[in-house]
Amino acid sequence: MKSNKRTGPMVPPAFVVRGLEAIVQGLERLRNRLLPPPIVVLQHMVLNLVVSRCLYVAAELRLADLLKDGPRAVDDLAAATGAHPDALHRILRALAGVGFFVETDEGRYGTTRLSECLRSDAPGSMLASARYAGADWAVAGWTEMLATARTGRTYYENVHGKSFFGWYDESPERREIFDASMTSMSAMAIPAIIAAYDFSTFGSVVDVGGGEGGLLTAILRASPRARGTLFDLPQVIARVEREGLRADDDVAGRTALVAGDFFAELPPAHDAYVLKWILHDWADADAARILAACRRAVRPGGKLVIVEMLIGERNQYSLAKLSDIGMLTLTGGRERTLEEFRRLLAGSGFALRLRRQTAAGYSVLEAVPV
Ligand code: SAH
Repeated sequence: MKSNKRTGPMVPPAFVVRGLEAIVQGLERLRNRLLPPPIVVLQHMVLNLVVSRCLYVAAELRLADLLKDGPRAVDDLAAATGAHPDALHRILRALAGVGFFVETDEGRYGTTRLSECLRSDAPGSMLASARYAGADWAVAGWTEMLATARTGRTYYENVHGKSFFGWYDESPERREIFDASMTSMSAMAIPAIIAAYDFSTFGSVVDVGGGEGGLLTAILRASPRARGTLFDLPQVIARVEREGLRADDDVAGRTALVAGDFFAELPPAHDAYVLKWILHDWADADAARILAACRRAVRPGGKLVIVEMLIGERNQYSLAKLSDIGMLTLTGGRERTLEEFRRLLAGSGFALRLRRQTAAGYSVLEAVPV
């Protein structure tokens, strides 16, 4: 296992995390078996939604930022956020009951390890993700799920007659919140990806659909001689150009920003093409078109590196099975099994060579052109 000294946060080995997950899932199943079924059903039906909405309010009101110097009285927090004191007290009390925030004295609240990551300046902050997941227009994507179950089409197709990215691209503000959310979700996975897979063998890397460039920056930091290309849609690249890559001068100096369409042409002849959280946005036929563009571009002897969650065993909990419902309902893509990736790759001129599991629940797949 590679040292991840350079990348900062401690990442436990993937097998330790998998072992812990198995224990937690075992306990969860035991609890579900012992409790009366209506209690378990209610929890998943309603109570998880309540916690999710309370977290959204906490994120929008920036409560974790306001508590960064220590616990404060609810009245004080209400005054600072323009919230209703009693409503805020009850929301914080509910969240404290599930481990987010802690009630210290009567009417005073502080943060916990979990709510700390809703701070805007926390490493791996989830603030942007919480704001995205809870935004009215993002929540709306789930409202017509029965129609999705009946038609197999996404909310955006059924209601707006558009693709997911097509609808997002109509509003720069929506798009920016989505991109920030991807960056924030990526931030939690990147140290585990860098720890699980050695990118330092590549002289040049293209991050295909690389968003705001978080992963590419981490790859270049871990590979001091490599050059990188951040490739994404024109509106994303234009914003990164305007705001600047969030990277030091050395890494920024080794990064090219290229706007384009990954169904058409990619910058050719590089050593590695990275697809993180790309293929799962697309149904097989579209995913195959993206892979075909990678196949045309990759230099002989080059590699394709895919980062996705894999659908796990039958009847086993797997984050990928839940994320897959997001793909079904929102993007029209799908999460895949390892075997499905193997077939998809083979159909596009690649052979799957390697699978590395990361501590963050994602797998890194390496494929070579054949
Ligand atoms: N790889 C990033 C972003 C994943 S979100 C991460 O892991 O965080 C999917 C990305 O694909 C978005 O940034 C989106 O703008 C980009 N994308 C969607 N359609 C595209 C297209 N036709 N060409 C290039 N990029 C596209």
